Amino acid sequence: MAKIALVTGASRGIGRACALRLAADGMHVIVNYRSGKEAADKTVADIVAAGGSATAIQADVADPTAVKAMFRTVKEQFGALDVLVNNAGLVRDEYLLMMQNETLDACFDLNVKGYFYCAQQAALRMMRKKSGVIINMSSVSSKVALPGQTVYSATKGAVNALTRTMAKELAPYGIRVNAVAPGFIATDMLDALPEEKVTEYLSVIPQKRFGKVEEVAATVSFLASEESSYMTGQILVLDGGLEL
Ligand code: NAP
Repeated sequence: MAKIALVTGASRGIGRACALRLAADGMHVIVNYRSGKEAADKTVADIVAAGGSATAIQADVADPTAVKAMFRTVKEQFGALDVLVNNAGLVRDEYLLMMQNETLDACFDLNVKGYFYCAQQAALRMMRKKSGVIINMSSVSSKVALPGQTVYSATKGAVNALTRTMAKELAPYGIRVNAVAPGFIATDMLDALPEEKVTEYLSVIPQKRFGKVEEVAATVSFLASEESSYMTGQILVLDGGLEL
C-alpha cells in the first residue's frame, strides 16, 4: 500500500514541488488548493505523467469547517493519512506603522491557525496507527529580522514554536513533527516582491542566489522518510547562508 501524503497549497510553488517529489518517492499525494483549480489539476496531471498517483482537493485551510470536510473526504477515499505538509502560506510585507488589521488577521488565519486546524485533524488520524509525519513550512524570516515583515515573521516564529511543542505532545503516539525554514525561494511569492527588495535580499545571501523549489522539496522528502526517523521538533534552515 502506498503511503498517503496531503500537501496544503500544492497548486503552485513550494507545495507543488513537494507534491511532485513525494509522489516520486512512491506516495499517493493529495494536492490541496484554495482557488487555483487549473493549476492543481496540472500538478496532478504532471504527477500521473511521471508515473505517480495524486488527487486534487479544494479547501481553504484557514477555514476550520473546510479543513474538517477535507479530512473527512481523505478518510472516506483513502482511509489512513501518513504525511501532512502544512505548506499553504501568505506573505504580506507591511511596515508596522502602516499595518492593516486585515493583514494581521489574514496572515495569522492561514499561516498559524490553518496549521493548527490541519495538524489537529491529521494527528487524530495518525495516532490510531501510531505513526505519522507532520512537516510545517516555516521561513528564515522567523530567525532573521527583515523590515516590513513583522507580521509574516511573527506567524513563522509561531510555526517554529508550535512545531516544537506539537513534536513533544505527539511523540508518544509515534508522530514526528518538524519544520523547514526556507530562505528566499524562486516562486510567485518572491515575484510579488518589489525589484529593489529582490536586489537587496540577493546581496545578503552568501551563496548569491535564490533557492529552488526542488531543494525545499528534497528536505521535505527527507523529513517524510524513515531516514529521519529519530528527528522530531527540529527546524531545518535552508537559506544559502542568509541566517549566518
Ligand atoms: P505561493 O507560490 O504563493 O503558493 C501558495 C500556495 O498556497 C498556492 O498553491 C495557493 O493555492 C495556496 N493557498 C493560498 N491560500 C490558501 C488557503 N487559504 N487554503 C489553501 N491553499 C492556499 O507560495 P510559496 O512561495 O510556494 O510558499 C509556500 C510556503 O513556503 C508558505 O508557507 C511560505 O510562507 C513558505 N516560504 C516561502 C518562501 C519563498 O521564498 N517562496 C520562503 C520561505 C517560506 P491557490 O492558488 O489555489 O490559492
